[in-house]
Amino acid sequence: MNPALRIRLLMELRRSGITDTRVLAAIEKVPRDLFVAEPFADQAWDNAALPIGCGQTISQPLVVGLMTQALELGSRPKVLEIGTGSGYQTAVLAQLSRRVYTLERHKALLTEAEARFRLLRLTNVVAMHGDGMRGWPAQAPFERVIITAAARELPHAIIGQLAVGGVLVTPLDTGPDRQDVVRVRRTESGFETETLFPVRFVPLVPGVPDDAG
Ligand code: SAH
Repeated sequence: MNPALRIRLLMELRRSGITDTRVLAAIEKVPRDLFVAEPFADQAWDNAALPIGCGQTISQPLVVGLMTQALELGSRPKVLEIGTGSGYQTAVLAQLSRRVYTLERHKALLTEAEARFRLLRLTNVVAMHGDGMRGWPAQAPFERVIITAAARELPHAIIGQLAVGGVLVTPLDTGPDRQDVVRVRRTESGFETETLFPVRFVPLVPGVPDDAG
């Protein structure tokens, strides 16, 4: 791994709005080259989304940084993540959270991600194969929730597992051919929603694939 590429990426993220130094430090620490497939190894430190198999993608580092920053992880909270994918976002969250519970509907992706968590000794990550649209009732409530696939509307089950005072960050379909990351805060009396920035994510899909693959 070329350290100059890592520094180039961090400078680009700073220029593009990642101001939280803890988020920058977490991105610096997680070896993204470990999370991309061999043919893309030389692009691992580019600010780009890349294919990871099963028709899915590892998110663009800028989007990982902005969503992590929007989650406000200063108190090292207990986090639920929907859409493990490569496990890259999970590994970034793990640097800043007490514990991360992550769900993935493609078994093959989950197995690969779990091997990476073991290699990096991320002992505060708990990963499970399943439909994230149901959330993780046995571990609820969560102080923070991040969904890394775009839903048409906020999934009710997941919203219900957000603690009072908690924050959820997710991409949402907000118009024809448009998605935005939104932040939802649960207050004593209800929910407050803010629209943060436009993005392009793969869709949140209910259920698990038939072949469990
Ligand atoms: N955060 C990932 C990127 C994930 S791409 C990374 O850093 O690599 C979105 C992921 O969400 C895909 O792996 C997709 O399979 C998963 N996904 C979509 N719908 C889901 C659901 N209902 N439950 C769990 N995972 C889901």
